[in-house]
Amino acid sequence: MTLFYYATAVTTAGIAGAAALLDGPARWWCAGSLFLGYLAISAAGGFAIKMNYFCKSVCRGKPGKKRIALTFDDGPDAEATPALLEVLKKHKARATFFCTGEHAHAHEEILRRIVAEGHTLGNHSYRHKWWTNFLAGGPLKTEILRTQQVIKDLSGISPKYYRSPMGLTNPHLGPVLRATGLKLIGWDVRPYDRGTPAKVTVARIAGAARDGSIVLLHDGGASPENLAAAATGVIKHFQALGYSLVSLEELLQDPIL
Ligand SMILES: [Zn+2]
Repeated sequence: MTLFYYATAVTTAGIAGAAALLDGPARWWCAGSLFLGYLAISAAGGFAIKMNYFCKSVCRGKPGKKRIALTFDDGPDAEATPALLEVLKKHKARATFFCTGEHAHAHEEILRRIVAEGHTLGNHSYRHKWWTNFLAGGPLKTEILRTQQVIKDLSGISPKYYRSPMGLTNPHLGPVLRATGLKLIGWDVRPYDRGTPAKVTVARIAGAARDGSIVLLHDGGASPENLAAAATGVIKHFQALGYSLVSLEELLQDPIL
């Protein structure tokens, strides 16, 4: 059971109780307050994946082995992703790439290179539109399954992790993920790397990441030089402290496909 179900049950019971036990303005004030509170917490739950409000997500791994998972969203990117892959190879680091179906189609050689170099592919919806989160069960499932199929056809890999566009969730996502067998992945470190100088991104991650962290970064639409510099800085910083940069599979100890 999710927080959404509990919130719905409590709000429904509260409003029914107010209607039965109260009269006049007190009834409307009480029922209205409960309903507005319900709307507010549901809106917050849709934006904050960490709340696990509409569905359960994984936002960090177990600590204990000095491991951090870097995740890169919105690619593959024609220039930024190859530049990043060079950095990862040079420093023997693994990462996870949450690709969109559209970009996988456009850059299938890069998609295959990601797999060939030992990294993990995740599903990040087909079109990555803001309105994805307003899709109901059927269309949302189609969006996700279409991406699964494209990635499978082009790379031979069926992703087992899903990250929703912008990390938004809705009441339909949980049932769709259960039906498709995908695990929802969030993050515990978000350096807001888009358009941010590499030095600043590195400092933000260095200050926030800890053993078991999942870091949200972007290769899609990134400057190749800036992304390579940020990845180099982060990897060097944590490797010097004895950490390994690992894929989500390794961090979450799932078997590799
Ligand atoms: Zn994204």
